[in-house]
Amino acid sequence: MKSQLDEKLQAIYQEVLYRNPGEAEFHQAVHEVLETLGPVLGKYPEFVDKKIIQRICEPERQIIFRVPWRDDRGEIQINRAFRVEFNSALGPYKGGMRFHPSVYLGIIKFLGFEQTFKNALTGLPIGGGKGGSDFDPKGRSDSEIESFCQSLMLELYRHIGEYTDVPAGDIGVGSREIGYLFGQYKRITNRYESGVITGKGLDWGGSRARKEATGYGVVLFTHEMLKSKSDSLAGKKVVVSGSGNVAIYAIEKAQELGATVVACSDSAGFIHDERGLNLETIKRIKEVERRRISSYVESHKSARYVPGSSIWAIPCDIALPCATQNELTGRDAKVLVENGCRVVAEGANMPTTPEGVQLFQLAGICFAPGKAANAGGVATSALEMQQNASRDSWSSEYTQKRLEDIMVDIHASCYETAGEFGAEGDYVAGANIAGFLKVARAMSALGVI
Ligand code: NDP
Repeated sequence: MKSQLDEKLQAIYQEVLYRNPGEAEFHQAVHEVLETLGPVLGKYPEFVDKKIIQRICEPERQIIFRVPWRDDRGEIQINRAFRVEFNSALGPYKGGMRFHPSVYLGIIKFLGFEQTFKNALTGLPIGGGKGGSDFDPKGRSDSEIESFCQSLMLELYRHIGEYTDVPAGDIGVGSREIGYLFGQYKRITNRYESGVITGKGLDWGGSRARKEATGYGVVLFTHEMLKSKSDSLAGKKVVVSGSGNVAIYAIEKAQELGATVVACSDSAGFIHDERGLNLETIKRIKEVERRRISSYVESHKSARYVPGSSIWAIPCDIALPCATQNELTGRDAKVLVENGCRVVAEGANMPTTPEGVQLFQLAGICFAPGKAANAGGVATSALEMQQNASRDSWSSEYTQKRLEDIMVDIHASCYETAGEFGAEGDYVAGANIAGFLKVARAMSALGVI
């Protein structure tokens, strides 16, 4: 169920629906932001006159291209790829590439739209963009992944650059794929332009703590929310969905801060152990062997594997959805609330449906939206760009301290902004408004461009 928009915002939303037919995830992301902007327009009527919201909802540039490549049998395969350069008021477009069969323009636009506000929240000079392809990396050999990445870059290289658009990883794109993409860019352009892509390996221009940053950041944000209620993660029971990059490092940080993580998942099912999960086994299965999470139970007899059904039925104090959009439904939210969950922080982008968010808010759950809670990843990507620009390499301690400071600032900015606009404790409103104001002020200053 969606909240009502006021008249002006409803008209803008109708125009978004009309101009972007069939893009359900994009509509959902826009509605979620518009729901919270009513009080902002009351306070800043100049943003209405300058049509800032209409302009923010229209990407600056959308690129769609064919990616032909040969599989290991010599057969030609054809995929479609996208790069949506959403908003560059604050800096070069910045956002990851997603390789997943579900990718289409509407998913990339929702992610690019979210990214614009998230990047603004980091306080760093980065605009918003996102890209990806309907290529499915599952079951593909290393050489097939390489061929696909090289073919994709043969077109993408024209559109990116350290001052233009800086891609990174997302679902299905980790350091292996970033390596193939960067290698091909370097070969085509004959430039060692480290700042053109982030998420690089440590030996070739990457930043320490980038791999861990999104997951760590989600838990650091959770820690700040609990601290504001004079509470902590120590002794809490945590459920994390997914078992990819974000999930693994959210588990690591939660365990470090004294919580017990009892369940995690992949798209086929989840593993559950009340005694707590063994992260070394999960890392081996997912990062080294690239197998399914079901194989975890082979080495841990106290754990069970449950195929298919929802991980959110496991009782917990804290839920961290770290897999994909709309994975936590209204029904899941109801079960979590009934089971006593008190805190939800989104590691994934828009993992909770509008019904779920509304239920959490009505139940007084401390709920952190992805654009605030998972901003540590892109923030550390911006730190990687800083290191590349100065041809420097920072220590892990220093980089982690910067990440920590950024997450503390994002929390404070969301918390204070919510209070300022009469929505005390509402992190959704706080994140949307704080991000919007930064982008809107810059757009306003830059004129009608
Ligand atoms: P990974 O590809 O490393 O992992 C994704 C995980 O989610 C896997 O366990 C995957 O399972 C699961 N998953 C993917 N699609 C589905 C689905 N349709 N249903 C159920 N489970 C699914 O991706 P990341 O960890 O990098 O990204 C996870 C989320 O975090 C995404 O929403 C992404 O946009 C967001 N994010 C990522 C950032 C980063 O730095 N990586 C930064 C900010 C946000 P399986 O292997 O079975 O597909």
